[in-house]
Amino acid sequence: MLDYIVVGLGLAGTAFCEKLRKNNKTFVVFNDASQRSSVVAGGLSNPVILKRFTMAWKANELMSLAKEFYEGLGKELQVDLLHDQPVLRILSSIEEQNLWFEASDKNLLKDYLSPKLVRNSTNSINAPYDFGEVLKAFRLDARLMINSYAEFLSAENKIRTETFEYSGLAEQSDTVSYKDIKAKHIVFAEGYGLTKNPFFNYLPMQGSKGEYLIIRSAGLKEFRALKSSIFIIPLGDDLYKVGATYSNKNKDNEPSMSARDELVKKLDAILLADYHIEGHVAGVRPTVRDRRPLVGGHPKHTRINLLNGFGSHGIMVAPWAAEQLYRHIEERKPLDPELDINRFSAMLPKV
Ligand SMILES: Cc1cc2nc3c(=O)[nH]c(=O)nc-3n(C[C@H](O)[C@H](O)[C@H](O)COP(=O)(O)OP(=O)(O)OC[C@H]3O[C@@H](n4cnc5c(N)ncnc54)[C@H](O)[C@@H]3O)c2cc1C
Repeated sequence: MLDYIVVGLGLAGTAFCEKLRKNNKTFVVFNDASQRSSVVAGGLSNPVILKRFTMAWKANELMSLAKEFYEGLGKELQVDLLHDQPVLRILSSIEEQNLWFEASDKNLLKDYLSPKLVRNSTNSINAPYDFGEVLKAFRLDARLMINSYAEFLSAENKIRTETFEYSGLAEQSDTVSYKDIKAKHIVFAEGYGLTKNPFFNYLPMQGSKGEYLIIRSAGLKEFRALKSSIFIIPLGDDLYKVGATYSNKNKDNEPSMSARDELVKKLDAILLADYHIEGHVAGVRPTVRDRRPLVGGHPKHTRINLLNGFGSHGIMVAPWAAEQLYRHIEERKPLDPELDINRFSAMLPKV
């Protein structure tokens, strides 16, 4: 008899499994490769929405918690997961420079936006109006984290690399069972895979496909992430991630020509140095109609829980949301109403 079954080992499943391990709970996690959101993510955790110069949802509260969590996990796994990542926003006009100054003077944003513009001193970037600098952002190597964590769980016999078949789940009065496993609780953390989950697919998950190009540019020599309509994120060894796109069509994991063309067009408008495309990846962000996570117990099935809906901010949100769910299940602590799936109880099928 285990304490938990977890389904999905993306950012959500990893944060929850780690919560369980830290609290000496027994568990097994099922994971397949049907969703790719966490492993293709840009990896940036950036507290400011750089389109509008506003704070991301709860960023002030969540950034330090997230950083502490990934630093701790990196130490445990003995891998280099986390990097401080300066971010430069390419400013496009005098008006935008003024908006930057205004924003950097606001109380909430002061700690995150430098009031001094950074001069564009290279010939490789088209930025005649210079850059605004974002402070305190970081980059997580999410793919490395998930792969290392899966290996770590494998050594402890806590992971099954297979698809969890929903039809095999049975409920007893105070337990759930699946194949040879009996557990007190099950937590689903399948990202966009939620759309196939018969317990939770009544929830308004929309999904947004995102694609990145990986380019090599020997002439760029930039250690800071650059942001205009897309990000250029340095990976080291002259490699950069370029993206991402947002699309509500074809929510699959296949790289598309239309996204490649869109990214190349946007990149050519900023990058003046030569480059070569080395890779192209795609995944589906688990986005929700009201842009808030989906967390909590099923209204009718008390042992069946959900940790999902992290949209474009999984890195920042996952550790906090996992903590919220864990304390809700174990200590009956109420969830933050903004992420509680009860806000959609009117959508629950009647039968
Ligand atoms: C292109 C792109 C760029 C992004 N960039 C950033 C960024 O820079 N910063 C940021 O914070 N966020 C970013 N995001 C968003 C972030 O990746 C997501 O918020 C996050 O990955 C969601 O994590 P998750 O664990 O909920 O889902 P997922 O990563 O999708 O993980 C779910 C896991 O469950 C598995 N699974 C599903 N169904 C089953 C089943 N039945 N049985 C077994 N296993 C199953 C899947 O295969 C997968 O491994 C980006 C997303 C994309 C697509």
